[in-house]
Parts: sequence; C-alpha cells; structure tokens
Amino acid sequence: MAEKLKIVLAKPRGFCAGVERAIEIVERALKKYGAPVYIRHEIVHNKFVVQDLKAKGAVFVDDVSDVPDGAITIFSAHGVSENVENDALSRNLPVIDATCPLVKKVHREAQRNEEKGREIILIGHKDHPEVEGTSGRVKQKVVLVESVEDVSNVSVKDPENLSYVTQTTLSVDDTKNIISALKERFPNIEGPDLRDICYATQNRQDAVRQLSKLVDVVFVIGSKNSSNSNRLRDLGEEMGKNSYLINGPEDVRQEWLVGKSVVGITAGASAPEVLLEQVLNKISEFAEIEISTMEGAEENVKFKLPEQLMDVV
Ligand code: SF4
Repeated sequence: MAEKLKIVLAKPRGFCAGVERAIEIVERALKKYGAPVYIRHEIVHNKFVVQDLKAKGAVFVDDVSDVPDGAITIFSAHGVSENVENDALSRNLPVIDATCPLVKKVHREAQRNEEKGREIILIGHKDHPEVEGTSGRVKQKVVLVESVEDVSNVSVKDPENLSYVTQTTLSVDDTKNIISALKERFPNIEGPDLRDICYATQNRQDAVRQLSKLVDVVFVIGSKNSSNSNRLRDLGEEMGKNSYLINGPEDVRQEWLVGKSVVGITAGASAPEVLLEQVLNKISEFAEIEISTMEGAEENVKFKLPEQLMDVV
C-alpha cells in the first residue's frame, strides 16, 4: 500500500430527497408526539439510520398488527400495499406516510394502467418492499420481470393490452434492456419510458461509473439489504475495479488497499454522510490520505413534508 493514499469522493453520493424526507418525518414525529412511534419496515435500508432512530424511540415492526392501539404508525419510504393501509385504517391507527413521492408516482401509474384495463408488468426485484407495495396498489396480480431472460418466459393474458411500470431504484441503464426486450416481444406494450426512474438512483450510478475510471478500488457505503447500494458495488466491478460494499468503518480491511494508490468512495441513497467521515478516519489509520471530490451532478430536489408535521422545528 502506498504511504500516501488519494481518496476521491463520488458526487453525488449518499442521501436522496426521499430518504431525507423519511428520516425527517420520523424525527419530527418523535418530537411532536413523543416516543415510541412505530415504523412498518425499516424506514430506509440502512443499519446505522435504523439504530440511530431506535435509540431516539422509534420501534420497527414487520406488520401493522404489531403496532399497539392508538400508536403513531409510520410507513417506510418504500411504500405499502393498499391492504397494509387498510389494516391500519381499520384499526384507526394514526398514520404518517413516509412513502417517497417518486414511489407514489409509480403507484398512480400502475393504477391508471389498470383503470384502462391493461395488464401490468412490473420491472423490479422480487421480495423488495417497494415491489410488494406497488403490486399491492392494483387489484390484478402483476407480472414481475427481473431480467431480460424473464421477458421470454412471462405469460400474459392479452399481448395487445399490456403496460409496464418499474421499481424506482433500478437505473435507466438497468431497465432499458428489459424494456427493449419487452417492446420486442410485445410491440404494443405501453409504459412511461424511463420517467419512473428515480433521479437519485441514476445520478449515483453515473457518478460511480465516472469515479471508477479515476481510482484503483471502490468502496460503497451502504447496507447489505440496500438495493441501490448493491447496484453501485456491482457497477464498480463492471467497470473493472475491485469494489466493496461496507456498512461503515468496521468493515474496511487493510488488505483491500494493498497495491492501491487511489481509493474511490461513494454511498448508497440511504447511507448517511457521518459514515463517510468514519470510513475516512479508519483509512487514515493505515496511510496518510489526501481527499478530493469528483465533478458531478448538483442535486436540489426536496420533497414536501406531510402537513401535520410542518409545525415541528
Ligand atoms: S432512491 Fe429515489 S425513489 Fe428511492 S427514496 Fe430516494 S428519491 Fe425516492
């Protein structure tokens, strides 16, 4: 390992507007209503964020039935199905919805397609909570497609009356081949082109590609269950650089730095900046470091908070 390591930070990296909003909702709810507040599913897929909110009085549950009567109930950024919403309503639980507005947009898109009588293909990852939420926003059983290979195997009722929507945390690049394959097999399929794709996902993926050209090794800060963080790691590898997904400083291994002189660091959309500071401190235990940030897209997106939390400062 070089005595001096250059560190290049990706731009943009880390928190997106949907994650910032979801965390702020929990923090404001704790201030306004006091602990505990109950959150269905991890508010965002990051271990550090979840632990931090737990310490402040948030309780994470898998199911609305685990929330005590009358307790403040928050839906995570990934969104929920209509059944989950109805379960909460039938129990009169006071709900605050932290679903990212971009995910809600996909819900509405799916519903519009259903109203037009179309069968829906959902491009996404099986078992991801966003996929569960979007599938559960329509009455029909959506057809899930995870890869180009899946496209040749799907069976649909009427190829002339089809539509598709996509999970927000797949990038334009991830989905474009699947969409092309769908269009080839079902020429009349209708979809939003690439408008469902989240700006933050695409920007972070573009950044990691650029970053990979500048560095010898890539570290992606993010949790193992974070879909977008895993994808960033995969992209680093696809660009030909050893790439590691790390939760935080505890995962950094000195041997990854052997023979390297430039280290690239990025963070998934749910990974807080404080972890970057800690990772940098950890690396500086092994070598002197010189930090710079690459050129990259500016992000100014901010989503409105729910009305009932606007009075909390
Ligand atoms: S990654 Fe995109 S869709 Fe997901 S929470 Fe962030 S802004 Fe919303």
